[in-house]
Amino acid sequence: MSTQTANATAHESMFEAVLARLDVAAKLMNMSEDVATILRSPIKQVKVSLPVMMDNGKIQVFEGYRIVHSTVLGPSKGGIRYAMDVNQDEVMALAAWMSFKCAVANLPYGGAKGGIKCDPRAMSVGELERMTRAYATSMKDVFGVNKDIPAPDMGTSGREMAWILDEFNKVTGEDSPGVITGKPIVIGGSLGRDAATGRGVMVNTLAALKKMNLNPKEITAAVQGFGNVGSHAARLLAEQGIKIVAIGDHTATFYNEKGIDIKEALEYAAKNGRVLKGFKGGTEIKSNEILTCKCDVLVPAALQNVITEEIAHGIQAKLIVEGANGPTMPEADAVLNDKKIIVVPDILANSGGVTVSYFEWVQNKAGYYWSENEVNTKHDEKMELAFSSVWHNASHYKTSMRIAAYITALQKIEQGVQLKGNY
Ligand code: NAD
Repeated sequence: MSTQTANATAHESMFEAVLARLDVAAKLMNMSEDVATILRSPIKQVKVSLPVMMDNGKIQVFEGYRIVHSTVLGPSKGGIRYAMDVNQDEVMALAAWMSFKCAVANLPYGGAKGGIKCDPRAMSVGELERMTRAYATSMKDVFGVNKDIPAPDMGTSGREMAWILDEFNKVTGEDSPGVITGKPIVIGGSLGRDAATGRGVMVNTLAALKKMNLNPKEITAAVQGFGNVGSHAARLLAEQGIKIVAIGDHTATFYNEKGIDIKEALEYAAKNGRVLKGFKGGTEIKSNEILTCKCDVLVPAALQNVITEEIAHGIQAKLIVEGANGPTMPEADAVLNDKKIIVVPDILANSGGVTVSYFEWVQNKAGYYWSENEVNTKHDEKMELAFSSVWHNASHYKTSMRIAAYITALQKIEQGVQLKGNY
């Protein structure tokens, strides 16, 4: 196993790192070389410049992207990220992950991703709204209910989705709520969507603990990131009896071996500009120490590339459930495999969000809305099935869950390519 992942050595580009893992999986499952060739290039790459009037009366031009990786299994689906490190390579990698994630979760979608290089925390609401509307208008020919359906990602939320929907409706002259997911409930969002990615992390954690014969009530966990994914994951894991011993965000990180009161942390963050700085429920530790602290389950739910080879050597957890996209570097995978740490990979672990986005799209198309209980029940069923398929492939191909998740996705995409045919 370690030799398979060792081939996926350090890559400067995130997209190259995705391809390296794809190559390992493709070889193991004996996938057609033609299909691998197709998947090495995204089918559409759009880059736009967005001139926006800032509050100081000056124009600032923002760089925006939308990259569609694949539409083999259906219209493309993927979030929109606002961050300073957004770039073409990163968006390509995230788009490819979406193709694999949707296939693993058995959703009728291909994969895409979008982003704007900006620092949303340093912008006013007005500036964010103007920039978001400019982005939506520039993508009017890319987005579409049966074409390409965006959603929130890091730095965006229901608020931005509402602006994008409004702008899209204006330029098309139609009301198309299904063109975007992760919307506020009142304008066509789905109950359960907000917590869905964290819920998926919880369902995958419980499924993995069961396979490991571990009782959740005797388990400790550390969760990096206290935004959409991390905060819901921490809350839902705690509700299952798992003791959360560490939490952190970009402002502060806390450890408490007796367990952190997550309800208290949520209330604190809600009153404190959605950040944890100043929280009194644990001892403050250095940001990176959360990854190597004493715990059974580690949930990285903030940034990519945080688990480096060096950090991997220090990790004490037995199980890692990747809430974030791409938190583990390829060279760290080999170390984690050697240490027999089970990693539930991002394309499985955080697919709860896109699963409920799919439910939102279905509800929008039908114009009929489900109860939260119905959404959660359907979500949990889909996640458990996806987990079982990946676990099965890991055992069948004697490989890691990460490579098994790629195999699970590639099996479906390969079939799709072969059935649809080519020029
Ligand atoms: P978010 O913007 O809501 O939250 C991000 C969190 O990460 C914040 O708490 C922030 O403070 C924290 N953070 C930022 N820098 C940090 C640092 N240096 N150290 C510790 N914490 C830091 O974003 P999100 O939607 O929760 O997304 C988090 C990750 O999950 C991303 O990788 C995203 O792609 C992935 N993801 C999100 C969804 C979703 O539905 N939101 C779905 C799938 C995957």
